[in-house]
Amino acid sequence: MHLQQNKSLRTQNTFGIDCTAAYFVEIHNLADLEEAAHLPYPKRILGGGSNILLTQPVQGLVLGNCLLGKHIIAQDDDHVYITVASGETWHNLVMYTVEQGWGGLENLALIPGTVGAAPIQNIGAYGAEVADVIATVQWFHLDEHAYITTSGADCAFGYRDSMFKRSLLNKAFITDVTFKLNKKTQLKTGYGAISEELKKMNIPATVASVAQAVINIRSSKLPNPAIIGNAGSFFKNPTITRAAFLPLQSQYPNMPFYPANDNMVKIPAGWLIEQCGWKGYNAPTGAGVHNLQALVLVNRQNATGRDIWQLSQDILQSVASRFHIVLEREVQIW
Ligand SMILES: Cc1cc2nc3c(=O)[nH]c(=O)nc-3n(C[C@H](O)[C@H](O)[C@H](O)COP(=O)(O)OP(=O)(O)OC[C@H]3O[C@@H](n4cnc5c(N)ncnc54)[C@H](O)[C@@H]3O)c2cc1C
Repeated sequence: MHLQQNKSLRTQNTFGIDCTAAYFVEIHNLADLEEAAHLPYPKRILGGGSNILLTQPVQGLVLGNCLLGKHIIAQDDDHVYITVASGETWHNLVMYTVEQGWGGLENLALIPGTVGAAPIQNIGAYGAEVADVIATVQWFHLDEHAYITTSGADCAFGYRDSMFKRSLLNKAFITDVTFKLNKKTQLKTGYGAISEELKKMNIPATVASVAQAVINIRSSKLPNPAIIGNAGSFFKNPTITRAAFLPLQSQYPNMPFYPANDNMVKIPAGWLIEQCGWKGYNAPTGAGVHNLQALVLVNRQNATGRDIWQLSQDILQSVASRFHIVLEREVQIW
């Protein structure tokens, strides 16, 4: 294990923010992980850096995840169980499963990042969430130095949420995720523009064609972090009570909404931000809001993490004062 000091993380976060980590190690195997856990510094875990905003130098130790490998652990006529090391690239895994004809991950194609980060915020897109296909999560407790397996049902998955993002943040290093995938097709094409895109492509709905439709739609809408720094959706879509929603609806009859559980209503944060006039905004600092998608904050030039955080704060305040809805950041602030 090679301990680096004052390591720049600029190429390891998709906002392209230049902050250093006081200490940094690459974790290539479980021996590295166990050794790093004994180092006397506060720890943070880094995957692909596509859901973090670096606002200051990291004082402690950053564990860079390089755990690789995957293997099938069981299968029958209907399902396949595959265990995947957490440092594998998420989109590569999706494309591998799609090539095998296994269903379950196709709607989550082209989400950046690593397999190990997927359970953290229960990644989701186009009507699917990774929680739907997680059988178990294997993780190492960095304080207690113990390996633990938690079933998907016990991970407290919610909308962009899990127990790993709460009490276990920076304590649980996810080492592997076991997915339960379908050999018999159960496609979800009803969300967003998937069925429209499939019609345009003029091919029948299969695991592979749905993945390709998702890739086409995402590529046309979302900024590529290799070209313009961003971390996808910066805020979560807020959920409010129906009682709070009704007066808003009479004031803003065009407000889009989706019924959620327990008599709650989910409102697209992008719409709220756009109504406040932020879409396409450019701050003098280089921080900004994407031209096509108001939910995505971007680093157009050399903005610092503080600049982007300040812009997010200004957006949060303007949405709160106009709609009385307090947005929650989806991106992890470091
Ligand atoms: C263009 C773009 C589009 C996006 N679209 C979506 C989308 O459609 N849906 C969606 O849900 N997200 C989306 N995201 C967000 C992001 O891709 C996901 O959250 C992804 O899972 C983050 O993976 P990562 O490896 O980059 O995690 P990082 O950014 O490195 O880390 C994120 C968090 O997870 C923790 N973490 C990472 N790895 C581990 C591990 N092995 N064990 C324990 N903790 C760990 C980190 O400490 C941190 O708290 C998008 C981002 C971008 C840039």
